[in-house]
Order: sequence, then C-alpha cells, then structure tokens
Amino acid sequence: MKPAEFLCTVRAFIRTRYGLRFPNRASLDRWQRRRLDAFLSTTLEKAPFYREACVSELTSLPIVQKQTMLEHFSGFNTRGIELENALAAARAAETGQPPPTGFDPSLTAGLSSGTQGRPGVFLASADERATWAGILLARTLDRDLLGCLVRRMTPLRVALFLRANSALYTTLKSRFIDFRFFDLQSGAHTHAGALAKFDPDVLVAPASVLAWLASESLDGRLPLQPRKLISVAEVLEPDDERRIRAAYGKPVHQLYQCTEGFLAYTCEHGSLHLNEEFVHIEAEWLDETRTRFVPIITDFTRRTQMIVRYRLDDILRLRSEPCRCGRVTRALAAIDGRVDDVLWLPSSSTGRLMPLFPDAVRHAIARHADCVVDYTLAQHNVTLHLAVEGEEAAFASVRRAIDELIVMQGMTPPAWRRATLEARANAAKRRRIVCVTRPSASQFDSMHST
Ligand SMILES: [Zn+2]
Repeated sequence: MKPAEFLCTVRAFIRTRYGLRFPNRASLDRWQRRRLDAFLSTTLEKAPFYREACVSELTSLPIVQKQTMLEHFSGFNTRGIELENALAAARAAETGQPPPTGFDPSLTAGLSSGTQGRPGVFLASADERATWAGILLARTLDRDLLGCLVRRMTPLRVALFLRANSALYTTLKSRFIDFRFFDLQSGAHTHAGALAKFDPDVLVAPASVLAWLASESLDGRLPLQPRKLISVAEVLEPDDERRIRAAYGKPVHQLYQCTEGFLAYTCEHGSLHLNEEFVHIEAEWLDETRTRFVPIITDFTRRTQMIVRYRLDDILRLRSEPCRCGRVTRALAAIDGRVDDVLWLPSSSTGRLMPLFPDAVRHAIARHADCVVDYTLAQHNVTLHLAVEGEEAAFASVRRAIDELIVMQGMTPPAWRRATLEARANAAKRRRIVCVTRPSASQFDSMHST
C-alpha cells in the first residue's frame, strides 16, 4: 500500500470509528440528504448512463438490477471501461495474473460469487479500496482486538475463507495485519492443518464453513481459539450459529458485503446495522407489517462505478426494537436469504398465492426438529422436495414442523416428495431453501381437485 493510500485508510478508519455520530435519525437523514445531493449534482453525470437523466431527485432515477448494469457496463462507470475488459481484469486478479494491457493497473476489478446468473463485476480505484479497508477495519476491529494488537506488538492474524481471493481483501494486509487467504475452491478440509498452524485471531468465512470448522473443533480435531468469528456471504442459519458458539464460546458477527458494497455489520451489542453512513438504502416492502424488504441501494461515496437505486435480490428483516449501542442506523434481525428463496403456497381461504418466507421455515425446523443435522427444501411447482440427513424419523419431524407452520399461516399444504441430500461442490454457496419453479394458483386448484 502506498503512503497516500495508507493515509486514506487511516482517515476512513478514524472518521468511521469516532466521527459520523448522529444524535437521532432525523440528523442522519439530513446529513445523508446533503451527501446525496452533492453526489447527484457533481458525480453522477460523469457516468454516461446518467448523462441525460434528470438528477434533481434520487427517486426520479430508474431502479436498476444486475442485468441492466451488465448490459450497459461502460455506461455505469466513469472510466469508460467495457464489460469484457473488466471481466478479463477480474479473472486475471483471481489467478494472480497482471491485468490485460490497456487496463489501468491502479484500478481493481472483482467478480461476485453469486448463486445464479452471470457473475457481477465491480471496479474500484486505489482510493476507494483504501477507504473501504478503513471502514471495514473500523467496523470489525473491536476494543479487544485493538488492545491485542497494541499489547502483543505482533500483527493480528486474520484467516479468510472465500471462493476467490480479491485484491480488495489483500488491501488489508499490512504491518498490523497478517492476512491469510484460504481458497474454498480446493475445499475447506484441505486447509485444516495450515489453519491450525496459523492460529487465527479472526476467522472470516461463509456460515456453513464456520459451522464445519466448529464441528471439527468440537470433535477435538482442529484446535482453534479465535477471538472473533465473522460470517460472510451466506445466510447465518440458527443451527450453525449455535454450533459455532458452542465450539468457540463467542458470538458470531456478520458482514454483509457484496459486489455492490459494504452494506451491514454487527455492532458491539450484537445487532446487524445497515451501513447507512455510507450507503442510502430504500426499502421495497414485502409484507404489510413492514418488517421484510428488498434493499435498493445508492452508494454516494463511490466515484468509479455507479451503484444508484440498485435493487439487490436479498430479503432483509428489520429488528423491531432499537439497538442499545445508540447508533441511529436501522438494525436488522437477519438477512433472510434471496428473493427466490421465498416459497409460494395458496391461502386456504382465498386460494391466492401467498409467500412463505424462508426465515419462518428455518425457525420452525430449528424449534421442532432438534436432532436435524442438515436438510434442503426446494419448491418445484406444487411440490416441496425435502431432503433430510438421517433416518425416516428425522424426515418426518421436519416435514411435520413445516406442515404445522403452513397451516398456522393459513395456507394449504403442498404435495411432498422425499429427496436425497446432495453433496455440495466445495466452493458452492449454500442455499438450503429455494424456490426452483414458482407455481400458479391454478396448478394448486387442479392438484386439489384430482
Ligand atoms: Zn448496535
């Protein structure tokens, strides 16, 4: 890291950690408004996609999704970089190769590890990368870790398990942080020996990988004593969280970080806060009680790639009570999964299709079926395909738990099929609950009339 970038990181760290405090929500909203106005009037027009747009109001701009962003990639960045070049640079970065000729080497390109469709691509300048590192460190280095760093005078050891490395993450490597990347492509188990030897202070991994490491530790095969555990990239399932806590005696923190930005982090009181000091988040509500929403994000701090009214595929659930830490940013009860993880069943009174949210299913299973180790649930039209690890009794108890939930929510139970639990590819993102094909209400009608 160059001295100027290091300064950038330190500045972002101090500002995030000790500045940007707001006495109430209204003052955060006013501050955000000013930042947004400045962004809309000076930065946005530098991206061709928005050159003709009327940018006086954020809400007058179109809502965009990954597909649009990929189709008009050069229109969404301020450097005129085409998608093919960004993809080539991102792929080169993953394998440690230099970027293709003509690609500005000070820029970072990276791929998203999405669960479906084309991969997303991001671009970040050296300054943006350094700022991101400062914000991330400010959000994750708690007092204990900072104290540890100062007392020991040795670098903090951070182990990161991910599907692919990124120059974004290696930005964090420094005199203060010994940063080790463990590649999930080759399988988490291949790293057990090296991980034990590394003895990480901070362990960052997808939830299912953390849970596997926890099982190994509980069985005495992998002695680890991390000071902090951070779950990324997957929904943190309640049974995984319990296992990780049991193994290491520590709460599991979450980082909600994706190609589109750094969106949420766990605070010192254990709540998952939206990173609203840096990202503006509109809620597209999914339920009448206004608890679950799809986020539409606008990053008013980025200058290279525009993330403006960008609709993610995730479902976030708001926490009902304010967090004791005093931050005025919205706190989440959970990241519940993706929009296409929602199952659809007919209402027993009207026959209209209603959403069965994955978090409700997860909790019903966690409550009623204690002995269940692993399962997957996939909706194919009117049939739910359920796979449960273990004997028939385990399958029956999970099915009963879901059936009871369906009845309790006033819906008609679907047809069931027992499926076999398939092994997951090493680096595949885990999605336990997924709607493969959404049914229509009439399909259920014909199912019940036959
Ligand atoms: Zn908090």
